[in-house]
Amino acid sequence: MASVELRDIRKSYGVLEVIHGVSLSIGEGEFIALVGPSGCGKSTLLRMIAGLEDITDGEVLIGGKVVNPLTPRERNIAMVFQSYALYPHMTVAENMGFNLKLSGLPKSEIDKRVGEAARMLALTELLDRKPSQLSGGQRQRVAMGRAIVRDPAVFLFDEPLSNLDAKLRVQMRTEIKALHQKVATTSIYVTHDQIEAMTLADRIVVLNGGRVEQVGTPLELYRTPANLFVAGFIGSPA
Ligand code: ADP
Ligand code: MG
Repeated sequence: MASVELRDIRKSYGVLEVIHGVSLSIGEGEFIALVGPSGCGKSTLLRMIAGLEDITDGEVLIGGKVVNPLTPRERNIAMVFQSYALYPHMTVAENMGFNLKLSGLPKSEIDKRVGEAARMLALTELLDRKPSQLSGGQRQRVAMGRAIVRDPAVFLFDEPLSNLDAKLRVQMRTEIKALHQKVATTSIYVTHDQIEAMTLADRIVVLNGGRVEQVGTPLELYRTPANLFVAGFIGSPA
C-alpha cells in the first residue's frame, strides 16, 4: 500500500477548467470515499491519479513520489469501473491473468495469483466460464480479481456497483471492504450513494463543481457539516 497526495491539482478541457485546485493527503491503507453530484469531477480526478488523463497543473504523489510523468502501468494502481470491460472471448481465468501476461510474468506465477484472487472472491468454480455465463455480481468480481492479481499499491473504484441491483449492492459493499483489508491497499472509492460512503469509508471527500467542500470521517461530516451542501449530501440534520 502507498500514500496518495494531491497538490493543487487542476484540469482543463480546452479553455474550460473542471477541477479547480484540489489538494488531499491520503494515508497508507486508508479507505477514502469520493462523493459529489454528477459532473462534479469525480471520474476526472480518479483518471488523473491513474494516469489515464493528463494533469493540467499540480502534482500527484504516490508513496511520496511525483508520478505525473509515469504511465498508468508504472504507477502500480488498479482501477475498477462501473462497466466491467471484460474480454468476451476469454475465460474468467484468462481475463484475470491478461494484464500479467502482458507484463511477461511466467505462467506458473500467473496461475498462482489468479488462483489466490479467485479464492478470495469466490470465483474458483467459475474460472473456466466466459463472461456471458456470469451474473452481474460475478462479472464485477472478475473485474476486481483482474485488479487484485496485479498486487496494486492503490485501488481506484469508479462507481463499481451502480449497475447492480440494490440487494447485490449491499452484499458487494461488504466484499469490497473485506477485500480492501485483505489485500491491504489504499483505496479511493467514487460513489453517489451516501450510505455506501458512510459504511465503507475511513474518510469522505465531498466534491462539488471541481472543488473540495469538506474532508472528514463519516461521523464528522454527519455531526459538523461545513455547509448546507455537505449537510444535504450526507443527509445530516444541520
Ligand atoms: P463525475 O464523474 O463527477 O460525474 P466527470 O469527472 O465525469 O464528473 O466530469 C467533470 C466535468 O468535466 C463535467 O462537466 C464533464 O462534462 C467534463 N468533462 C469530462 N470529460 C470531458 C472531456 N473529455 N471533454 C470535455 N469535458 C469533459
Ligand atoms: Mg463519473
